[in-house]
Amino acid sequence: MSLPKTIDLAAMKTGGLIKQREKDLFAIRLRVPVGRMGADHLRKIGELAKKYGNGMLHFTVRQGIEIQGVPFADIQTARDELEAAGLRIGACGPRFRVVTACPGAAVCPNGLVDAGALGLEADERFYGQPEGLELPHKFKVTFAGCTSCCPKPQENDVGFHGQVEPVLFEDECNGCGICEVTCKEGAIIMGDDDLPVRNEAKCIYCGDCINSCPTDAWKVKRTGLAAFAGGRWGRHPELGQKLADFVEPEKAMDIIAGVLKFYKDEGKRGERLGVTINRVGLTELKRRVL
Ligand code: SF4
Ligand code: SF4
Ligand code: SF4
Repeated sequence: MSLPKTIDLAAMKTGGLIKQREKDLFAIRLRVPVGRMGADHLRKIGELAKKYGNGMLHFTVRQGIEIQGVPFADIQTARDELEAAGLRIGACGPRFRVVTACPGAAVCPNGLVDAGALGLEADERFYGQPEGLELPHKFKVTFAGCTSCCPKPQENDVGFHGQVEPVLFEDECNGCGICEVTCKEGAIIMGDDDLPVRNEAKCIYCGDCINSCPTDAWKVKRTGLAAFAGGRWGRHPELGQKLADFVEPEKAMDIIAGVLKFYKDEGKRGERLGVTINRVGLTELKRRVL
């Protein structure tokens, strides 16, 4: 079947229906915030991929799922069936995109913050914004549970990772030196008095010293989020710039809202946030957001 002449492929793509190379086949992109989905939903997607598509699914880099090979004529029925099962279509285009996250502290032994829960909260609050309007370009957000940064917070428009500041309780230290060996940043050296000394400038707040100490002499002083803004991948990659350390998790949504407002106010059409920040200035962004 040939496609109707009036079809708006760009609008369809923005709505999560992506034209494939084949003449009338589309991929339906599903919205999967933080890459988390129940097994029953996944089974249903498999069923519909066989019923309407070519039986293949594609798991996207941003944790989404696409049903491939759906003929144009079947799109509406497939959509109705997906929506009846509680599955949602994902948006493309100049919008606040589906939020990604790693499993974080709820699942991963290295997690310092519950990245998944924060990602779901952000997705619920901001996804698809601005309603009926366009941002200058796409806007991507992610949360990582620790300094390993698996979901790459520095490559997103706004990204966060968990961090922890250690504090030494000298009376509980036996001078074993394990923390000096464990610290991959060389931020700990053993002093003449057989007590470890932490170099704040080298410390990346990973918490490995806390986890490795056999006597629990290193303890948690504070836990929070490092926040970055302006990162992107694609044709002209650039890492995000640090906005703040030790943001309280409950303040993360305020940071996103502030950066989004800055982007709406200052961004030029077609310009990613990082370019806007380079033009207007990180200091100005911080002044408005923090
Ligand atoms: S970023 Fe940290 S918490 Fe998240 S999956 Fe990677 S190691 Fe685990
Ligand atoms: S690992 Fe713990 S006990 Fe050993 S030197 Fe470091 S702080 Fe002290
Ligand atoms: S928090 Fe990480 S980087 Fe900082 S001193 Fe401890 S092990 Fe080293």
